[in-house]
Amino acid sequence: MKFRSLLFFISVVFVGLVFFSSCGPSGQTDSNQTDTKKVLRQSIPVFSADSAFSYVKKQIDFGPRVPGSKAWTTCASWFESELKVWADTIIIQNFQARAFNKEVLKGRNIVAVFNPKAKKRLMLSSHWDSRPFADHDPLPENHRKAVPGANDGASGVGVLMEIARILSKESPDIGVDIVLFDLEDYGPPQDLQRNSDSEDFWGLGSQYWSRNPHIENYRAFYGILLDMVGVPEPRFLQEGFSLYYAPHIVKKVWTMASNLGYSQYFPQEQGGYITDDHYYVNKIAGIPTINIIHLEKGNNSFFKHWHTINDNLDSVDPKSLDIVGTVLLNLIYSE
Ligand SMILES: [Zn+2]
Repeated sequence: MKFRSLLFFISVVFVGLVFFSSCGPSGQTDSNQTDTKKVLRQSIPVFSADSAFSYVKKQIDFGPRVPGSKAWTTCASWFESELKVWADTIIIQNFQARAFNKEVLKGRNIVAVFNPKAKKRLMLSSHWDSRPFADHDPLPENHRKAVPGANDGASGVGVLMEIARILSKESPDIGVDIVLFDLEDYGPPQDLQRNSDSEDFWGLGSQYWSRNPHIENYRAFYGILLDMVGVPEPRFLQEGFSLYYAPHIVKKVWTMASNLGYSQYFPQEQGGYITDDHYYVNKIAGIPTINIIHLEKGNNSFFKHWHTINDNLDSVDPKSLDIVGTVLLNLIYSE
């Protein structure tokens, strides 16, 4: 296991502070022993960008994970077989939900549980389904084609798969639940979006989970949702619902990012309100949850290939996965 040099530096500063503040007549030997233990607990595993990227690629290789498709079925089996090896328990939630067009869809949320006995739990999530409609593609003939979903879905899941692999090697002090939501992106295509009611046709998997969590009376002290985190030179603004429901978590995560030298990617700037899975987790399940999501410079819109047939691997930079994964690992292992 390697240690990041920056964290080593932080640990050294931390030890220095503890050492100086605890110097007293009781002698130095005891405090040195205590400090050594603190250093060990401060060790943070290294996130592998290559490994995370390979998990994004694996999803793309299946094809668009449109609910009910062959790619969706085979990709779900792959998640389950990998997570079964890494997690203490996995829970598969099969459910039904009504789509905007009245069709009853079969959905599947996948939950990987780490350190199940820990009372203090962190919930990490992302959506794994691909949008069936590339309704923002510049070419109208593509509007009913599926989105490959390299950024919109697979990037966040790729980061979480790498986190899961690391958690299996180094058990954290806290409990961690990785929740892969299905049916986030089955909202009506643009030409059928008639009224604001259509909002609730997004995030069908997170709505189901929020009403029926994988464990009765499930609580997490906070949650983080990842969406479109693979964009090169990412710009994660502080999203509106995150600030409304969980301002203390936004502060915690942005402070951690800044301590790691990532403030250019996590600026102290507000983004708009986005209906995404975290909205339902906050509103229905009452777990303070934030969304880490990239927004473009200039107009604060989603990334340029959002909901087009060009949301492919070219839109994903392993460096961006590394930034987000490193922030998450530092949060997990410093609790
Ligand atoms: Zn989407």
